[in-house]
Amino acid sequence: MFESLQERLQEAFKRLRGKGKLTESDVNEALREVRLALLEADVNFKVVKSFIARVKERAVGQEILESLNPAQMVIKIVYEELVALMGGESVGLNMADRPPTIIMLCGLQGAGKTTHAAKLALKLKKEGKKPLLVAADVYRPAAIKQLEVLGEQVGVPVYSEGDQASPVDIAQHAVAYAAEERRDVIIVDTAGRLTIDEELMEELQQIKARIQPHDTLLVLDAMIGQDAVTTAEHFHTKLGIDGVILTKLDGDTRGGAALSVREVTGRPIKFVGVGEKLDALEPFYPDRLASRILG
Ligand code: GDP
Repeated sequence: MFESLQERLQEAFKRLRGKGKLTESDVNEALREVRLALLEADVNFKVVKSFIARVKERAVGQEILESLNPAQMVIKIVYEELVALMGGESVGLNMADRPPTIIMLCGLQGAGKTTHAAKLALKLKKEGKKPLLVAADVYRPAAIKQLEVLGEQVGVPVYSEGDQASPVDIAQHAVAYAAEERRDVIIVDTAGRLTIDEELMEELQQIKARIQPHDTLLVLDAMIGQDAVTTAEHFHTKLGIDGVILTKLDGDTRGGAALSVREVTGRPIKFVGVGEKLDALEPFYPDRLASRILG
């Protein structure tokens, strides 16, 4: 991933790197390449526009044009603005002051919710927590079974009431159950649909209102390109999310979602999914990604 973006940006800076003093038009030309590279990587066009404007404002200042190593300074500005665009810091889970912490996962069908519920459970277990997985996707055939199988693989119990109960009730009962069983983190796997659907949103709103999660995370497939931004915007407007788990970054994605989500929703990408295996979950580090992009 990001290879094309990386190559394009390197190309854009190659000419600058060799130069001593820059003119304003050198900077403009390089930024035009940066702009194209970002658009080609599927970064949302509004995000690209404001990003380029911010870089330009800083890069065409006299100080830089007259500095000894202006190209390096422009590259540094692009790096800093990329980090800022992705939110700066790495952000972890919101944990409750007093357990149990309630985490609600939402997203479109196929985004990787069930898989990432299990990945999170495994991560928390390794950190010494006692998670509980909750099967609140009662519509997708075999979703409950899938969660039970994954729960078994990671050694974390799964709370389910079958597919006839209401997901809102299941979620609420699970919170009570967790308290009885002294489980300290509850991870609720909710239903998705192939496309955004109002009925689903209403159900998610009801679950959220009933269990009041400490962290509502959107599981978002990086492979869907520009649609990732629309999906994130919609879920955030309708439901209110606290963060994003961006999945399938190991796949053949141009990665634009990673650069757009924060700017569009104001919410951080907290984790990235980098494979089907249950340990293929990583914290999201804006600075590392920015370095990789610049090459
Ligand atoms: P859900 O419908 O949102 O619950 O999605 P699932 O958890 O069932 O995942 C859908 C498919 O995506 C499954 O085949 C997963 O193995 C796969 N998947 C999930 N996360 C990742 C990931 O980070 N990388 C890759 N390559 N595949 C993933």
